[in-house]
Amino acid sequence: MSDCLFCGIADGKIKANFVYQDEAVLAFKDIAPKAPVHILIIPRKHVVSVLDIEANDGGVIGRIFQVAGQLAREQGIADSGFRVVVNSGADAGQSVSHLHYHLLGGRRMTWPPG
Ligand code: 5GP
Ligand code: ZN
Repeated sequence: MSDCLFCGIADGKIKANFVYQDEAVLAFKDIAPKAPVHILIIPRKHVVSVLDIEANDGGVIGRIFQVAGQLAREQGIADSGFRVVVNSGADAGQSVSHLHYHLLGGRRMTWPPG
């Protein structure tokens, strides 16, 4: 998708502060962090939202969660706790139409989310 911000990051056309990359998954620091650790984990493939995940995307979705755990350990938030969040659609506040998993940690969080 030529007009997609996160496809632009995946293609290297838009700069990002990468913390993980492989053939299917990328992770980079959020430009406007909402917690001391705020990393976005995305599939390289353009998937718009949770609603667009297909059966054969199962491998990459599993990999994203595995990477989330690996990064939580690397970033020092594995023991203190963290969240993995996916906003989908307008009511949830999704602002970028390329599936992304927020890894958030390093501070106490409230529940339920706002
Ligand atoms: P959403 O609101 O869709 O769940 O999350 C989108 C996230 O992307 C936001 O947390 C926002 O700060 C982040 N973001 C928006 N533009 C950029 C950008 O150009 N680079 C990076 N690294 N993050 C971005
Ligand atoms: Zn995209």
